[in-house]
Parts: sequence; C-alpha cells; structure tokens
Amino acid sequence: MSQERAADVSEAEIAVHWQEEDYVKPSEKFIAQANLTDKRVLERFSLDNFPDCFKEYADLLDWYRPWDITLDTGKPPFWRWFVGGKINASYNCIDRHLAKHKNKTAIHFVPEAEQEAIQHVTYQELYVRVNEVAALLRDFCGLKQGDRVTLHMPMVAELPITMLACARLGVIHSQVFSGFSGKATADRIVDAESHVLITMDGYYRGGQFLDHKQKADVAVSEAKKEGLSVDKVLVWQRHPGRYSSPTPLVEGRDFIVNEVLSGYRHRKIEPVEMPAEDPLFLMYTSGTTGKPKGCQHSTGGYLSYVAGTSKYIQDIHPEDVYWCMADIGWITGHSYIVYGPLALAASSVVFEGLPTYPDAGRPWRIAEELGVNIFHTSPTAIRALRRAGPDEPRKYDHHFKHMTTVGEPIEPAVWRWYYDVVGKGEAVIVDTWWQTENGGFLCSTVPALHPMKPGSAGPAVPGIHPIIYDELGNEIPPRSGRAGNICIQNPWPGGFQTIWRDPDRFVEQYYARYCKDRKSLDWRDWPYMAGDGALQAADGYYRILGRIDDVINVAGHRLGTKEIESASLLVEEVAEAAVVPARDEIKGKVPDLYVSLKPGLAPSGAIRKRVEDSVVHEIGPIARPRRVVIVPDMPKTRSGKIMRRVLRAISNDEDAGDISTLANPEVVDEIRKIKA
Ligand code: ATP
Ligand code: MG
Repeated sequence: MSQERAADVSEAEIAVHWQEEDYVKPSEKFIAQANLTDKRVLERFSLDNFPDCFKEYADLLDWYRPWDITLDTGKPPFWRWFVGGKINASYNCIDRHLAKHKNKTAIHFVPEAEQEAIQHVTYQELYVRVNEVAALLRDFCGLKQGDRVTLHMPMVAELPITMLACARLGVIHSQVFSGFSGKATADRIVDAESHVLITMDGYYRGGQFLDHKQKADVAVSEAKKEGLSVDKVLVWQRHPGRYSSPTPLVEGRDFIVNEVLSGYRHRKIEPVEMPAEDPLFLMYTSGTTGKPKGCQHSTGGYLSYVAGTSKYIQDIHPEDVYWCMADIGWITGHSYIVYGPLALAASSVVFEGLPTYPDAGRPWRIAEELGVNIFHTSPTAIRALRRAGPDEPRKYDHHFKHMTTVGEPIEPAVWRWYYDVVGKGEAVIVDTWWQTENGGFLCSTVPALHPMKPGSAGPAVPGIHPIIYDELGNEIPPRSGRAGNICIQNPWPGGFQTIWRDPDRFVEQYYARYCKDRKSLDWRDWPYMAGDGALQAADGYYRILGRIDDVINVAGHRLGTKEIESASLLVEEVAEAAVVPARDEIKGKVPDLYVSLKPGLAPSGAIRKRVEDSVVHEIGPIARPRRVVIVPDMPKTRSGKIMRRVLRAISNDEDAGDISTLANPEVVDEIRKIKA
C-alpha cells in the first residue's frame, strides 16, 4: 500500500453531517405478536456462545440424523457446519408441514395479467407436483445427487416446484435470472457444467408475452462453443397444454415438461438424506462490480440460517401471507421467497409481472386481494413506485405488519414514503444488509426489539459479529462513527462454502486482506471481508455506505456515495440519484452527480441548482458536485441496482467496460450525449 493512501486514511473521517434521523418505534400491536421479543435471546447469540448458538436455528428443522460437530474449522476458511447431520430441504419445506397444513396455500402465483386467475398451490398440491417433477428429473433425465442443473425460469409457480424437486434428489440447482440473455445463461451453464437446462416457453412482462425458449437455443449453442454439451432442454409451458413460443422445439433435445410428466403422475420420490455440507444450490452474484461469482450454498447450514432469520427478522408465522416482491433469480428470492418462508409453513407470493404495470397501484391491489401482511422489496422498486404512483397506496385497503428493504442503502426520504404511505404508519421496517455470498441477513434491526432508524441497516443480526477495519488493517473502534471496510469476525451457517470451481478466488477475495495468519486454524484469525464501506454509529447501528470502490476521496476526505445521494433526494423533483468520482487535477477526485426526475418533469437549471444546494447544505462544500447531470434513467443491473461503475466511466471519458449485466444498455450512449 502506498504511503499516500495510508496518509489519506489516517485523516479519513466520513463527515456524517446528515443529521441522525429520529428513531421510529415498533407498535405495541406488532410487539404483542412478534416471534422474538425476549432480549435474552440476543445474549444467547453472543460470541461467548459461538458456535453453539446456531443450534437454535438448526433446531427449527427436521433432521434425519443429528450432527456430531456444530462447526468444523479444520480447513480455514472453508467452514463446515453441522457435520455428520443429514437433512433434506424439500422435506423440510413440504412433507413435514402436511400433517398440519396440507390444505393451506404454500404458493400464491399471481400472473401479470389481472384477468388471469391467481393460482393457490396448497402444501398438498406442492407435495404432489414436486414429487412428480423429481421423478422426471431422476428417471427421465438421469439426474442424481451432486449433479448440477441450470434453471432459466421466470417468476411462475413452476420455478419453486422445480427447485424443490432438485433439492429432493440432492441435485444442485443453479437458477439464472430470467431477464438474462441466452449468452449470459450459457456462461453460467458452462461454469456450473450443467448438462440439463430447464426453461419455459415464455412469460408476461409489461403487457407483452416474451418468447423465452429462444434464449435457451442461444444458451445451448453458445455453451457448445465453450465445449459444454447440454443434452436435454426441458420446457415448461406457461399455459399448460399449449406451447406458446414461436421458437420450434429441437427433436431429441427439447421436451415439454407437461407432456413428459404424464408418465410420472402421482409418483413418489423419497427425499435423499443429504449430508448437511452437501451443496443445495449455486447462485451467481449480480455482477455490479465485475464478473459474477458462482456462490455455492450448503444444505443444512443454509436452510438453518434462512429459517432462523425468516422467523426472527422477517417475523414469519405459519398463518402469515408473505410477499417478497423480488425475483427468485436472485439470492433474495431463494432465501426469502422459497426456502425461508416455506420452511416455516407460510404462504409465499410469487408475482410474475412488473410492479408498475399496468399502473403503480398493482402491488397494493395484490396485497389487498391476498391479505398480504408481510411485504419485502428493494429500494429500487420502492423508488420506482414512489416515482410513478406516490399516492397509489392510499387507494387500497392493504395492511402490512412488517416490511423489508434489501439490496441497496435506502435514502431516508424514500424510507419515509415507504413507512408513511405504503405501510400507513402501521408496519415495522427492517433494512436488511447482506450479500449473495451470505445466504441470509447480516445486519438488520430485530423488529420488536430495536427501534428503526431510517437510512441505517441497524445492529448485526443475532449471531453475526462485525468488525470494521481501516485500509491498514487496524480495527476502527466500535461505535466511533468512523468509516472503513466492514468484515464479519465469525463464521455463520448461511455463509457460502466457496466460489464454484474457484476456491482460490474465494480465499483471496473474501479473506486474504484481513487474515491474521494464513496457517491459523482459529476462525478469529479469518474475518470475512464483505467489500462494503460502513460505519458504526454510537448507538451500535451500522450504516452501509456503498461498495469500498465507490467511496469518493476528495482532497483526503472520504465521502460516502449514499450521503450525497440522500441529500439529492431531499429535492422534491428527484426520483433517483447516483454519484461517482471524476478526476480533477487539483483535488484528485470530485463528485459528479447524476439524477433522474419524477415523471412529467423537464430538466432545468433551477432543479440542478437546488440539488447542488442540498448537497452543500447537508454535507458541506467539500461535497459540492462538479456538475449535476439530469438523465432519463440510471444504468441498472438486471437486479435493479444502479451501476455506478458505468457512470464513473462516462464521467472520466473512459470505456464503460463489460455492460452485459446491464438491463438498459441503450441509456449509456444517451447519458454520454447529455453529459457532453
Ligand atoms: P457483484 O458482487 O457481482 O458485484 P452485487 O454485490 O451487486 O454484485 P449482491 O450480492 O446481489 O451482488 O449484492 C450485495 C451488495 O448489495 C452488498 O455488498 C451491498 O453493497 C448491497 N446491499 C445489499 N443490501 C443492502 C442494504 N440493506 N443496505 C446497503 N447496501 C446493501
Ligand atoms: Mg458483491
């Protein structure tokens, strides 16, 4: 590390000029029904009780065989949880609920078109359908424990059904977000070495029927160029009995699932008793910062962790109707649409469409109709709904007891709208910070125990013990309000086991930087580096400042992107904001600020000025943007995150690099033109 960088850091203090928001308390009504109201439980999860505290989560599940060793640290940092235990995820999400809940809805599938009927799949139906698909995968495709299969499926009930069928057999599923192209799917097929691809003929999005099968053909031929042969493509029909894609089937390779299934009606497949440490699935990261990594998640540890956090942080009870409006193609959907809620026997909503189609009232109509009482989504979706229909939630009679945000920091102004208008002041909000790599939440308030603080993720969740380091590897004193790199001191059962086929990168990227001794078998010497900047305030709450690479260093002052963006969002007209460092001869780096406006508003010098003034007022002159650029839309990843790396390239007149994970690549040139 250079001296210059070191000097920067010793001075580095993020000025948290933005006023600490008031705390918001959970209602008595919420507390009265909450799963976790006893503070002593938090103490049970202290480091003194590590790793045994996590038995509490594992005990939420049914095991075929109990584990012998809670945590095996014999080969750091490849931690092994619940070693010797045997378990099946499909059994835990379905079979064990049948005695009590067989007629209860497991999955509400909400098609995009409002005239198409909602499907309510009961636990009994789920059991039957999962067994049939498992029989097909085993006997028709020859898949067995440890094989990988790539799924490229939209948001339909058949997606969790297929995942749970894989889990029943111990087949490792790798679901690729349906919005990804054939080429992107091929990359993931090749990496996972899947010889079977499961897809669907098409699906509805924004009022259109999209031909999805065509991407499968591209995926298979692209994979072939890389030397990987996909032998079978299983095609679900969006409308069973009718093949709806204009892309023809390939003889001998492509099979209509609904047709083949007729040979497997009412077949039963005994769940495979899986060693706890066998992988359940692979999930590739969003690719916000670079090439996606195939995160490998275990069966026993992962399922324990998502069941525990679903119970304590999501506050799920079996009688709840829970809607996580995310895509199952991302980790959020795996953990908190499928595995967590179903492990707890809740009803989980799977929604096919766009939240703002046909209008921004759609989510609230769905919530009203199904009686959804727990709602979960991302700041991006909240901003989009606020932008398109700020008053829509008021028109509907929905009532949430609990709401979640995940995926990006949420600006206090957006948080307020979520709380007041969407939640009608009745719901608690948890702002959950975590990553694909982590399996489940790392930081969040425990909803009945901790007051909410808009813009802050909250303390670490039970059993997670963060530590913040500076660039030199010194620990930043807890609760000091000073920013650094947030790490987690201890292993936890939801943490990924490795990067698929790249264990070296796993060690180098997440552990090497702050490892105290690479020979040590003591987990204390192996903090996990998340790659995000964060600070811990005096009250113990963590504020996530964005990715380490996004922190802007202006004349030795490190500015969190989130502070500047939050200040911009205080300006009424602004819908979204993103700030990036631009090179400056004198100051080194200066902030360039990109904003998009609420619908119907035209860019103007007056708005730009108000944004600039707000930043200076909230943070100080040091953060004054070099310029404020009003853009039609932000460059976003398919998971809806703003890709600041692209804006940074535009600001510095550099090549935008790999934009294959971008949802709206056309916007890049538009922004270049506006900026010039
Ligand atoms: P890649 O790792 O491929 O660049 P990615 O980091 O966007 O992609 P994810 O695992 O989907 O992939 O996202 C995790 C990141 O999202 C976190 O590291 C953090 O930067 C951000 N994040 C998630 N939740 C929150 C939150 N509640 N508050 C602030 N940031 C969050
Ligand atoms: Mg990441």
